[in-house]
Amino acid sequence: MKALIDKLEKERALSRDEWIALIGGRSETLAQDLFRRASAVRRRCYGDEVYVRGLIEFTNCCKNDCLYCGIRRSNRSVSRYRLTEGEILACCREGYGLGYRTFVLQGGEDPAWTPQRLAALVADIKAAHPDCAVTLSVGEHSKETYQLWFDAGADRYLLRHETADDAHYRFLHPPEMSPENRKRCLWDLKEIGYQVGCGFMVGSPGQTPAQLAEDMLFIRALEPEMVGIGPFIPQRDTPFGGRPAGTLELTLFLLGLLRLMLPDVLLPATTALGTIDPRGRELGIMAGANVCMPNLSPENVREKYALYDNKLCTGAEAAQSLRSLAQRMEGIGCRVVVSRGDHRKL
Ligand code: SAM
Repeated sequence: MKALIDKLEKERALSRDEWIALIGGRSETLAQDLFRRASAVRRRCYGDEVYVRGLIEFTNCCKNDCLYCGIRRSNRSVSRYRLTEGEILACCREGYGLGYRTFVLQGGEDPAWTPQRLAALVADIKAAHPDCAVTLSVGEHSKETYQLWFDAGADRYLLRHETADDAHYRFLHPPEMSPENRKRCLWDLKEIGYQVGCGFMVGSPGQTPAQLAEDMLFIRALEPEMVGIGPFIPQRDTPFGGRPAGTLELTLFLLGLLRLMLPDVLLPATTALGTIDPRGRELGIMAGANVCMPNLSPENVREKYALYDNKLCTGAEAAQSLRSLAQRMEGIGCRVVVSRGDHRKL
């Protein structure tokens, strides 16, 4: 197995069978060796810097019905909300004061947010904070719509591919959603010029090392600037509510592998990782991640963006606790910086 990690570090690619063997052959000793190498690679590219993004979950209304997701349209137990433009701009103002220079607008696919309305909001945020980056994460749209938002000033786009294995994708999603369209969106976003993030849940129902190998091959081919991975965590009102959560160990291992495969990638230690373990964020950074995305949404809506059970939204998770997050990062030899934290091409 060590030979495969050597090869990955040198060539930044493995074959399908090699990925399956490496992911399936994970051990504690191997993981520790991987994390040491991944941290060294991260340091070579980004030094000791950890980037923070203010996450604004601006709507939990969604027209989709993904089987794993707590805000899926058929979940009647969700108390739905959508922030107004004024509320979102107030979040950005507060975030700017706290030191955030990237705002991530994430939400369900909410028809009330027409392409034009979101474009106007992006333009307003950029006008108010020209030194900040705006990241959108609002699902699947036409290339024209993505172009409209890019022209309005959006810099980055997060769209997890969820799984690169087509049959697995169909297992996790309703029939009206397709893996082809998900991937088409990612290629369109790249072509337009966004810094693009794809990603997947670790331990999603039905996932095997073979599917994770497909994910690694897809990510290698796409060469995204960002990759968002975090453990799947069940949400009780969804069809997968009784499934086991993904593990901390496998998530950390995959973070390390991603850092070796794409040395300059922006890699968040996600909220889901912090939710399954109190030290999840720190462990994620030590495994190779270099981004944290604390929550900047107004406190009265945070609990309503319940993608999964017990989702963290307070403590170091809250954007207002930047000081405590910074201290936690200092504790592991890293430094939270006030910066847009753009992707750096090696
Ligand atoms: N609607 C946008 C989209 O489809 O990209 C953004 C919002 S969506 C809720 C953001 C991400 O949450 C998804 O890409 C998915 O990977 C993650 N997610 C949803 N349900 C989850 C769960 N039960 N456990 C962990 N992550 C989950």
